[in-house]
Amino acid sequence: MNNINNFIYKGAIHIHTNMSDGSGDFNTVIKAAKKAHLDWIIITDHNYYDTNEGIFDSLYVIKGEEISPKRSDHYLAFDIKNTIEPCDNPQIYVDNVREQGGFGFAAHPDEGITVDDNGNYIPRKNSNHCIPWTNKNIKPDGIEIWNWFSNWADNLDDRSLYKLAYSFIHKHKIVKSPSKITLNWWDKLNNEAENIVPALGGVDAHALKIYKYIIPVTVFPYKTCFSTITNFISLPKELSKDFAEAKKQILNAIKFGNNIIANRYICKELPKIFVTNTKGYWYCGNEIEFDDKCCLHFEANQIFDICLIYNGSEEKKYTTDKFIYPITKCGKYRLEVYFRGKGYLYTNPFSIKD
Ligand SMILES: [Zn+2]
Ligand SMILES: [Zn+2]
Repeated sequence: MNNINNFIYKGAIHIHTNMSDGSGDFNTVIKAAKKAHLDWIIITDHNYYDTNEGIFDSLYVIKGEEISPKRSDHYLAFDIKNTIEPCDNPQIYVDNVREQGGFGFAAHPDEGITVDDNGNYIPRKNSNHCIPWTNKNIKPDGIEIWNWFSNWADNLDDRSLYKLAYSFIHKHKIVKSPSKITLNWWDKLNNEAENIVPALGGVDAHALKIYKYIIPVTVFPYKTCFSTITNFISLPKELSKDFAEAKKQILNAIKFGNNIIANRYICKELPKIFVTNTKGYWYCGNEIEFDDKCCLHFEANQIFDICLIYNGSEEKKYTTDKFIYPITKCGKYRLEVYFRGKGYLYTNPFSIKD
């Protein structure tokens, strides 16, 4: 039986080092992650994978790969054995990852297009350099529903010097919430699938260095990124001191969706969100047996705006610090939590089954 006091560990996923187009080396990234109070990170360089992993200064460092063709279909691959080459058919590397015993997430799948409150599609104005997932019939194992850097770039208004300067300084105002298009695709995949199609949040940290008047300026340093979109995994047991075992614990939590995605810049409090039934407590990503005691709980110390999504459709809205929702039918439930008008937290689905 699960316990209400599961162990929660904070991590950042989707990080580039100087092994691809990031500016920092391994140690720089680790120092920044420690400063941002993370417990674990997953480094995913473009088309590069190595096994320099382990526990460094009590930070768990795992390696994956961002399989990156030039123009589209980037894929975050985890638990692989060797570097996987990109090609122009994503189905090939989606399959390759599975053949190596791993799993993967479509990265920034709708980069370059946003949708306004009226549902109108707005293409990114500022650049042709967008890298979407082009064929939505090719199904990844999971989806990166929120990518900090990509979200920032998509919400840039234009490239005038004034707007650019504004966007750099007020970077946190610009990152609002995951793309509605991506959330809709995620819900659709979940509606079609028997099991949970998990989501994760990525930072896409590069700490790019721009040489202005010969002095390098770091754009979005690692620590800045690491203090934003965070994955809060929930484990029934403490993270093992043995790295191989801990790696399994972290990767399984991501693979099965025992993971809440939240932007720590927006709010510091992680509300308690869980389902109970006669058998105990359950975290998101769990398959839960339906019974007459089945309830979804939300507990926080401050007021949030919360949207309860059932099988991809809005079921109920709350503005509250606490609620208990009695579950009366099977299906997939997830929460979107807003704080002061901005997207803050997205749970993976709770799957209720007969
Ligand atoms: Zn990418
Ligand atoms: Zn990337």
